Amino acid sequence: MMSILVQKFGGSSMADVDKIRHVAGIVSAAHLQGNQTVVVVSAMGKTTDGLVNLAKELTKAPQGRDFDMLLATGEMVSASLLALCLQELGFKAVALTGGQAGVQTENLFNRARITAVDTQTVHNYLNDGYIVVVTGFQGINTLNETTTLGRGGSDTSAVAIAGALKADCCDIYTDVTGVFSTDPRVVHEAVKLDEIAYIEMMELARLGSKVLHPRSVEAARRWGIKVRVRSTFQLEDTGTTVMDEQDMNAMDERVIAGVTCDKNQALVAVLGMPDEPGSAAKVFTRLSTKGISVDMIIQSMGKEPHTNDIAFTVNTWDLQNAQGLMDRLLGDLGARSVEIDDKIAKISIVGVGMIDRPGIASGMFEALAEAQINIKMISTSEIKISVLVEKSNADKAVQAIHAKFFVAEQSLVDSKSGY
Ligand code: ADP
Ligand code: ASP
Ligand code: MG
Repeated sequence: MMSILVQKFGGSSMADVDKIRHVAGIVSAAHLQGNQTVVVVSAMGKTTDGLVNLAKELTKAPQGRDFDMLLATGEMVSASLLALCLQELGFKAVALTGGQAGVQTENLFNRARITAVDTQTVHNYLNDGYIVVVTGFQGINTLNETTTLGRGGSDTSAVAIAGALKADCCDIYTDVTGVFSTDPRVVHEAVKLDEIAYIEMMELARLGSKVLHPRSVEAARRWGIKVRVRSTFQLEDTGTTVMDEQDMNAMDERVIAGVTCDKNQALVAVLGMPDEPGSAAKVFTRLSTKGISVDMIIQSMGKEPHTNDIAFTVNTWDLQNAQGLMDRLLGDLGARSVEIDDKIAKISIVGVGMIDRPGIASGMFEALAEAQINIKMISTSEIKISVLVEKSNADKAVQAIHAKFFVAEQSLVDSKSGY
């Protein structure tokens, strides 16, 4: 049986007709090598940003069904252009929307999850010798309406389709040569990782590293699909494989996999709540019933006696809702006021190597102290440590922490007593 290969090309790889021609060359080469080839594409260049801005000229906070209708058009343009280009080169090719390719999602707009992929149509085309080009970032819900998967969601389309097709591999082609120890555009000394564990990549993606959409890594892990992140423009580079921790070679030596930064965070503080059982439950139950996820939480003593302050972080896209909810809750909570700070960023380090290794947190805090950067909040889990800092210090913080762990990595790894 022929092997099935899924290749995904991001916006920068599809940015103009010359780049689309270049992509067609990569796709057709894989096809000529005997692979059944499915290609998932993003919208050309910054098209999606352009569509968002257009909608914002007409309505303050575009959302819902018709916003998804609009956003989905970006990928339709790039998929059909690539199919036309492949046909011109003499290949049988067809462009399918997410819905036509059987990508089904939940009944939620703007950030829908994929619930199933019906591969019948794609299989039929593949068996007929077609190269199948699918629009990333979109699907249809049970009412046959177009939905989108959240910004960066084409990665998730590709992995879900690869999983449903039981593809041998899912290649994510982008504008960097793989997954680095931190964003190589922010820190030039960033090092490329040959391999990274699903759980590490899942945390890095969730904590702000946009090289892969978080749900794509979740899906890859669930389906056991190896994902290779590689460059469209440096094909000789083998990229980074995202894989099961057990199958990795380099696990023992590496303390942390990467440093990441999320600038889309905001802090909400509810001040002067009564210091009594049930206060925190009231705040967080209301937030969760509205589908607002909270990450870091700090409760501290309030200014007045017998009061508490509770501060928590939310994604900026949830800020308006969270703030409105807290304002409405003030009376019910008996709290004094709600304060917002959106000039913050969350910096995190991630690595399965930090389990049972003391000294990683102190290394991170030392790096920030040496760079004279104040920490506003801290949260930790088994494989990650996050701190909140002023947004204006974010890049400097990433650089300082990265230098501590990667430039000095060897000494950290070697000193058994310390790190
Ligand atoms: P695409 O359009 O191909 O989907 P994205 O812009 O979504 O590409 O993702 C690639 C970008 O992710 C890179 O250009 C890089 O700036 C950024 N990035 C952030 N963190 C990392 C990291 N740890 N490793 C590699 N790239 C990263
Ligand atoms: N075009 C969409 C975006 O810009 C989806 C993607 O590129 O993955 O977010
Ligand atoms: Mg992307």
